[in-house]
Amino acid sequence: MAFESLSDKLQNVFKSLRSKGRLTEGDVKSALKEVKMALLEADVSFKVVKQFIKAVQERSVGADVMNGLNPAQMVIKIVNEELVSLMGSDTTEIQLRPGNEITVIMMAGLQGAGKTTTAAKIAGKLKSKGRKPLLAACDIYRPAAIQQLQINGEKQGVEVFTMGDKISPVDIAKAAVEHARSHNLNVVILDTAGRLHVDEEMMDELIRIKDSIQVDQTILVVDAMTGQDAVNVSEMFNQKVGIDGVILTKLDGDTRGGAALSIKATCGKPILYTGMGEKLSDLEQFYPDRMASRILGMGDVMSLIEKAQANIDEEKARNMEQKLKKAQFGFDDYLESMNQLKNMGGISSVLSMMPGMGSKMKDLESAVDEKKMAGIEAMILSMTPKERANPDILNPSRKKRIAAGAGVDISEVNKLVKQFEQARKMMKQVPGMMGGKGGKRGKF
Ligand code: GDP
Repeated sequence: MAFESLSDKLQNVFKSLRSKGRLTEGDVKSALKEVKMALLEADVSFKVVKQFIKAVQERSVGADVMNGLNPAQMVIKIVNEELVSLMGSDTTEIQLRPGNEITVIMMAGLQGAGKTTTAAKIAGKLKSKGRKPLLAACDIYRPAAIQQLQINGEKQGVEVFTMGDKISPVDIAKAAVEHARSHNLNVVILDTAGRLHVDEEMMDELIRIKDSIQVDQTILVVDAMTGQDAVNVSEMFNQKVGIDGVILTKLDGDTRGGAALSIKATCGKPILYTGMGEKLSDLEQFYPDRMASRILGMGDVMSLIEKAQANIDEEKARNMEQKLKKAQFGFDDYLESMNQLKNMGGISSVLSMMPGMGSKMKDLESAVDEKKMAGIEAMILSMTPKERANPDILNPSRKKRIAAGAGVDISEVNKLVKQFEQARKMMKQVPGMMGGKGGKRGKF
């Protein structure tokens, strides 16, 4: 998971600050030196790190400590605020024209960055918001690009406009807008050609498209795994072609995450979305404040709640929440909740968003391991309905019977009971997690 190492390091720095009663200027200085190292190791650009540390230092020294905060918390607060401002403070939306007016979105980026995939992800998002998108295949150079767009478009239920690979991308773009107009579609997403490296020809083609049709938004897709390269590419595209925002893909991978922290500060354009996987639903809106909390290990409860709301059956969730409140949460509900966690992208993706949950949740993490799920299910099915509804009656002889029924050792049953207790506790700690209303949702 991106930022894991940065997050660990920052948390260690803050832990050592917290252990001090009062902070001297020297304490702050040496802590910030470690923060600086951690950011550089996370591949944040040197210029950005320097500015960042300077800003935090200036604000920390001589800062009035706010009511209710100790000096260490005050430093953490300042680091958090500066991280948020580094990433652009506010969430930026893709700007769409009102009503049925056609918005043209041009996707740009290097080959392999994830442009074609992301174009289809965006189309799906727009469609779910009630827009009528059209995907236009303007990459006539990469042999499989058109077909890939067609396959992805079909999966999203979005029409793909193509004229083959013999017509110029400029003419395809023009014709796509005409097609949208005559077919009552209101967003045209142009999937343009990428190259392995930034080159003049690619830039010129994008400029020619921009010159010949009204492009409303130029969105650059960059691969987070390429670190500083992603930052340089953003700067170059912005200078030559002009971009409105960036989508950072593959943030689900093992990237150090520095690009997310450097792009806005370097090229001045915000990150709009992050690609979190290969599936067409793996696109998340970018919230600087939530990302900062995640980096600082304060969790990202808002994203978690939204994810839960999007994936969890509301009716079942409400029932479960009621049961939790009345302490009626039993093993059948546990099984159900594990299935729902699986739908949310797996337990580790959920856990990474929980504040301070890391080590406590290791047992639970293994519980939702696909292979172990089957074993757990077998144990739960070996319980009587009464036992499932009322786990507190599970005495040693009942556990022995359940173990025999499921064909496992009694220690496995004990482990399950322990995990169940932890799950019950965890779900109580995050109000609304099980699907209650009230989470702020991102808008398109
Ligand atoms: P393009 O050349 O820029 O159009 O790139 P593609 O859309 O063909 O993507 C290149 C590869 O990256 C494909 O295998 C995609 O499935 C993969 N990919 C795209 N976005 C993401 C993402 O957010 N996470 C991961 N893990 N893979 C991605």
